[in-house]
Amino acid sequence: DNPISRKPAWIRVKAPTSAVYQETRELMREKKLATVCEEAACPNIGECWSQRHATMMIMGEICTRACSFCNVSTGLPAPLDADEPRRVAEAVAKLKLRHVVITSVDRDDVPDGGAAHFAAVIAAVREAAPGVTVEILTPDFLRKPGSVGVVVAAKPDVFNHNLETVPRLYPTIRPGARYYQSLRLLDEVKRIDPSIFTKSGLMVGLGETKSEIGQVMDDLRIADVDFLTIGQYLQPTVKHAAVDRFVTPEEFEELASMARAKGFLQVSATPLTRSSYHADSDFAALREA
Ligand code: SF4
Ligand code: SF4
Repeated sequence: DNPISRKPAWIRVKAPTSAVYQETRELMREKKLATVCEEAACPNIGECWSQRHATMMIMGEICTRACSFCNVSTGLPAPLDADEPRRVAEAVAKLKLRHVVITSVDRDDVPDGGAAHFAAVIAAVREAAPGVTVEILTPDFLRKPGSVGVVVAAKPDVFNHNLETVPRLYPTIRPGARYYQSLRLLDEVKRIDPSIFTKSGLMVGLGETKSEIGQVMDDLRIADVDFLTIGQYLQPTVKHAAVDRFVTPEEFEELASMARAKGFLQVSATPLTRSSYHADSDFAALREA
C-alpha cells in the first residue's frame, strides 16, 4: 500500500519509446551530460525528449542541499568541470534546440555558488548556437553576494528560480533555503536587467492551502515575476516527503485563472506541469505574440 503507486488517472504518462528519445539519450551519454529529466524521474520525459526538449543539469549530480522533495543525491560535489560549458553548447547545437533550459544542483561549497560557471555555459551556448533562447533555472545563491549580478550579466532570455512551496512549508520541504531570499533573488534580477523575463514555480499537493498559494502569487507579482508554473508534487521515493493530496485538474484550472487575473504574462498550471515543461513552445509563442 505504497502511496507512490496510488496515483489518480490524470497522472499516468506514456512510457518513452520514440527514436528521437533514444537519440537524445545517447547524445547525453556521449557528452557526459546530466539531465534533470532523468535525475528527477520526470513523468514528461517521453513527450519532451521526443520533441527535442531537455533540461540539462550542470555543475555535477551531487547537491550540497537536501530538499525533501528532490531525488538528487546530497553530499560534497566534485570540483567544477571547466570543459562542461563546451559540452553543453555542443549538445544544444547538435540537438538543434530553439530553446534550452539549463539548471544545476546547489553549490554552497563554491565561493560564488557557481555563478561564473553558469555565465560561461550561457556564453558557450550563445556562441555555438546563436539563435537559441536560453532559459536558466538557478539555485538561490544564499550567502553568495554579487552572484546574481554575474549570471544576469550573461543575459539569459529567461531567469527562472522556483519558490517550490509556500513559506510555511519551507522548514520541512526546503530546509536549506529561505523564502524571502528566493523572492529577493527574482526581484534583483528584474531590477538589474528588466529585459530578462523572470519565472518561478510551485509544487502543490504538499499541504499548502489555496490562500497561501494566492499569497505566494501576490509576492511574485510584487517582485515583477513574469511567468508562473504550478504542478502536482510526486514523491520520488518512499524516503521523500509524502504527497498530502492529489490536486484535481479542475483545481489546477482555478489556480491558473487566479494567476492570470493577478497579471502573470504566462501561466502553466496542470498536474504534470514542471518548471521546464513546454518552456520551448511557450517561449516561442510569447516571442511571436
Ligand atoms: Fe525534462 Fe522538464 Fe520535460 Fe520534465 S518537463 S522531461 S524535466 S524538460
Ligand atoms: Fe534538489 Fe535543488 Fe534542493 Fe539540491 S537544491 S536538493 S538539486 S531541489
